[in-house]
Amino acid sequence: MKIICNPVSYGGKARKAWPTVVKALKDAGLDFEVEWTKEPGDAIRITKASVKDHKVICAYGGDGTINEVLTGIGQTGFKNTLGMLPAGRGNDNAFSVRQTNHLADLVDMLVHQETRTIDCLEINGGERYCLGVAGAGIDAVVAEMVLGKSSRLSYNLYLVKGFFTYRPKPMQIDIDDGRITRNVKALSILLCNGQRVGNKKMVAPNAVIDDGLIDIAIIGNTRILETLITSLKLTDGTYIEHPKVEVFRGKKVVIHTTSKKSIPAHAMGEMLGPLPHTFVCLHKVLKILRMSDTILKREGWDKANVFSENLER
Ligand SMILES: [Mg+2]
Repeated sequence: MKIICNPVSYGGKARKAWPTVVKALKDAGLDFEVEWTKEPGDAIRITKASVKDHKVICAYGGDGTINEVLTGIGQTGFKNTLGMLPAGRGNDNAFSVRQTNHLADLVDMLVHQETRTIDCLEINGGERYCLGVAGAGIDAVVAEMVLGKSSRLSYNLYLVKGFFTYRPKPMQIDIDDGRITRNVKALSILLCNGQRVGNKKMVAPNAVIDDGLIDIAIIGNTRILETLITSLKLTDGTYIEHPKVEVFRGKKVVIHTTSKKSIPAHAMGEMLGPLPHTFVCLHKVLKILRMSDTILKREGWDKANVFSENLER
């Protein structure tokens, strides 16, 4: 087993917590190899260099680190199992597959190595992969501004700045090769495989992580006050009831723009560069370590709506 660690996750708190983590893993008799990242993109490179020798590759860090390890696994054909050791601020990927952050639970997961297979977003034919939420528009702009900012205060300041300065932009959305098309001024378009993004914002309360479909939300031409209200409702997912929000499900989404200004896009806070981008839901391709049924039951997650096996359709 390989563990790829990002020392700067959560403003350096990941590095500080590591000695405790490593002691717990050793006490449990686990055999593992550790490598630390030095710069963005490193975890992709290290993962690709590790896929032959290690069946399970774990990411110790935030959602960005998990995204990179996942991208390395995807770019080498999804042969390896992803383990998530969340050590970031939001840890939204871990929540989307119903993992806790408790060290004892994580050790239990690594010891038993139970797996589940989930969907994965493929971006631009495999440039990047993402198990959570991708998007274009204001959330990408805010992600760009807060990149590398460690304190919660600066994060919130940039969030507010983004909401007051960003105006909806023209975007063209094509779902499933012309099945649904929209040409709209949109504040944001969210493409959700997982349910949560941006530090515990439950943007897709109905997204199912293994149904082969992306939950798509188009947030339309909202004014500043509406934008603020809508953004508050992102936290619990109730924004989808706003009249200027349209929701769809689909397997493939292409987002373009006719705007002369570039519109940034992101995947779990990692910048993807300006539009256009193509997102495809790869059905049940990604193997991940999962927490035991005992832990899921304890947390009240044994019937969680994020897994298709728990849905009565
Ligand atoms: Mg889905």
